[in-house]
Amino acid sequence: MKKWALRSKRALVTGGAGFLGSHLCERLLQDGYDVLCADNFYTGTRENVAHLLSSPNFEIIRHDVTMPLYVEVDEIFNLACPASPIHYQFDPVQTTKTSVHGAINMLGLAKRLKARFFHASTSEVYGDPKVHPQPESYWGHVNPNGLRACYDEGKRCAETLCFDYHRQHGLRIKIGRIFNTYGPRMHPNDGRVVSNFIVQALANQPITIYGDGQQSRSFCYVDDLIDAFILLMNADDAFTGPVNLGNPAEFTILELAQKIIEMTGSSSELIFEPLPSDDPLQRRPDISLARAQLGWDPGIQLEQGLEKTIAWFRNLLQQRGVIQSR
Ligand code: NAD
Ligand code: UDP
Repeated sequence: MKKWALRSKRALVTGGAGFLGSHLCERLLQDGYDVLCADNFYTGTRENVAHLLSSPNFEIIRHDVTMPLYVEVDEIFNLACPASPIHYQFDPVQTTKTSVHGAINMLGLAKRLKARFFHASTSEVYGDPKVHPQPESYWGHVNPNGLRACYDEGKRCAETLCFDYHRQHGLRIKIGRIFNTYGPRMHPNDGRVVSNFIVQALANQPITIYGDGQQSRSFCYVDDLIDAFILLMNADDAFTGPVNLGNPAEFTILELAQKIIEMTGSSSELIFEPLPSDDPLQRRPDISLARAQLGWDPGIQLEQGLEKTIAWFRNLLQQRGVIQSR
């Protein structure tokens, strides 16, 4: 006779009302989890998870991870942290606190509960890389006191904390280094390149290229990334990462702008603005480790992902009366 589990697995998602967090909460609910979303709504919104609120398996609490949290769960996905340069530089001290104090609090919770711990790290740990593409073995090239340091060094320290909890307390950790990811539910004023360009193109406003647009990024569609989160969390405990999670197809920012103008049929012109300081010149993940250990390969190519993202933003901007319905 089939044995029934007494209860579902319970997951805590910090930053669960943000762009990636909301997609993760949705996926975990589909996979049969009880999901507790904790967010201070700094960049995330209730709207992002409004469609989940009717589920009896979903709960949301306003909580700042720089404060301790006492709950009972089996797995923790630690995503809390603003990810857009504009937002993380707005209150840089809070950004470092979120990464470092937040990691200490959530790792402490995981230690008490003996819970598995996933940490959302970033390609920013490589800084402005001198090795291309970036493998996990590369230690990076980060300016420790520049404008991006609150985020880059905060995330580096959070990785250190994960590994020290792992070595010192036997905590089961999983570190994903996320490369630029995009998709529906990015905040329209988020300031990141994909959302900026799509909103500008749909409104026929000038597209703001920082620098000469020759800097590169590799863009991963959100659904592919969430698959990787789940695979990583469920991988053998011996596999801690860090593991690069991103789509290795690399584009210049100028190429991205041209593609978005073409796909939206926009009449936007390009305008060139100064390159922000410490803006990495090139970025592409080496994902051999993720392929080998997780059997993961992002399948959604840029045009396909942009199509879905553009459709979502078009609908949002129409609802808000920013653009006319067609
Ligand atoms: P986001 O800004 O949409 O989401 C971050 C969420 O964390 C928001 O809901 C915000 O309100 C919440 N938050 C911020 N500070 C908090 C605090 N102190 N306490 C509780 N909640 C807090 O960004 P995102 O793109 O969804 O990023 C999620 C995570 O993934 C972040 O840790 C980010 O560093 C990491 N990441 C994302 C990308 C990407 O391309 N999207 C790339 C690398 C790393
Ligand atoms: N960028 C740009 N115009 C914008 C927003 C961003 O040219 O309106 C550039 C930015 O300078 C960077 C790249 O696009 O070189 C990616 O920026 P984003 O903020 O999305 O992420 P990053 O990878 O820099 O953290």
